[in-house]
Amino acid sequence: MGLPGAGKSVQSGLIRDRLGFHWLSTGQLLRDTKDAEVSAVQQSGALVNDELMFKLVGNELKEVGYDTTFLLDGFPRTVEQAEWLIKHGRENGKHIRLVLYLKVDEKIAIERLGNRGRPDDQAETIKKRQEEARKIEPTLAYLAKQGIRVAEIAANGDVESIFKQIKAAVEGI
Ligand code: AMP
Repeated sequence: MGLPGAGKSVQSGLIRDRLGFHWLSTGQLLRDTKDAEVSAVQQSGALVNDELMFKLVGNELKEVGYDTTFLLDGFPRTVEQAEWLIKHGRENGKHIRLVLYLKVDEKIAIERLGNRGRPDDQAETIKKRQEEARKIEPTLAYLAKQGIRVAEIAANGDVESIFKQIKAAVEGI
């Protein structure tokens, strides 16, 4: 979890390649639907509705298989999504082992997005996405209250310094 620009995608790629997790990015999953309505919501910076999210994530978890170790990137983003994930996991014999919270200064996050050039990285959309990302705090608090370990990662620095902390947190599970 983390603001847009915290480094979630870059770090997820490393976690997949170096630590062997299956990387599931909900932002990418949504872009892959190539659905005009979904694309419009993404480009506005708002969140896609939970009904569709639960369907897409549920299908993907089932398809890849519940015996896989998943890294969920961009999900859950709200308390409702966290509730769903815990319940869905329970029903399928899975649980959340660790939450990685990439903590970054908003200014640095916005600078990073400026270098990326995705259609939802335009100024107005970024503002809206950062606003939506403020739902992270209550979601984190909810997850921690459920007894799930949350590792806070200092994410202002360079890629390797962030990964080093993530690796230590994952190996400490
Ligand atoms: P991301 O690549 O994770 O920054 O996601 C890009 C966009 O996809 C977000 O701004 C949302 O519009 C949508 N999205 C991704 N994950 C979710 C989610 N868990 N719930 C709702 N919308 C999402």
